[in-house]
Amino acid sequence: MLLEGKTAVVTGGTRGIGFAIVQRFLEEGANVALCGSRPETAQQAVDKILAENPDAPVMGLAPNLADEAAFEQALREVAERFGGLDIVCNNAGISQSTPLDDYTPEEFDKIISLNVKSVLNGCQAAARVLGEGGVIINTSSMVSKMGQPSGVGYPMSKFAVNGITVSLARELGPRGIRVNAVAPGVTATDMVAALPEEMIKPIADAIPMKRVGQPRDVANAFVFLASDLASYVTGEVLSVDGGMTV
Ligand code: NAD
Repeated sequence: MLLEGKTAVVTGGTRGIGFAIVQRFLEEGANVALCGSRPETAQQAVDKILAENPDAPVMGLAPNLADEAAFEQALREVAERFGGLDIVCNNAGISQSTPLDDYTPEEFDKIISLNVKSVLNGCQAAARVLGEGGVIINTSSMVSKMGQPSGVGYPMSKFAVNGITVSLARELGPRGIRVNAVAPGVTATDMVAALPEEMIKPIADAIPMKRVGQPRDVANAFVFLASDLASYVTGEVLSVDGGMTV
């Protein structure tokens, strides 16, 4: 097992890509704390895991990620419960598709708050709690490399995630903390998976590998980056997009 004895926190861990990361980390022997936006959804996700494996070392939390002190407190709680902390995944994020003409300051603030500020908060809190050594992985997106035709705030926020990742890899490298990002392509989370086949097909046809990604495809990249297999990998934005950005 690649993460035996490690302890990880995954934000946005209640569903979609984050839930797949939680499942894969548990399969690889890690203790995992998943964060959701509300205590009830975090608990539901924990219950879903425990229903299949009652002994799974998993806990649920719902800190306000926009509040750095609350985020840090949550990480300290996890470290206390499992006897340490090794891996922090800043995965929670929202997307937007509003055209520029209709884009509002409120939408701008909303996406900056979660996709950028919370990621920075997570990195800062992680660096404080990890101390010396550890791993931070941020969720970026393929649109951080290619933009998108509407909803400029979303690709903008993911460009910022890449900037945070690369800069902090340089700043935290001397402390033995690796900082990387994963940039998923179109991934079959609830929203995409619910689309009818006739809508999925043209999307899949535009992807060199001719299919959309599965959450586990993306989660496997997190396992690699979190593990000692990636012991000399930092500052990398790893595309998991079926060749979409090649
Ligand atoms: P999802 O909507 O299925 O899950 C989002 C998660 O984020 C949930 O756990 C939710 O509780 C949490 N969340 C949402 N708002 C929050 C808030 N204000 N505070 C705390 N937590 C909050 O999303 P997903 O598709 O699994 O996306 C996960 C990450 O992957 C995001 O950063 C997203 O930008 C990125 N991404 C997704 C795709 C895709 O096609 N699904 C592609 C590229 C990148």
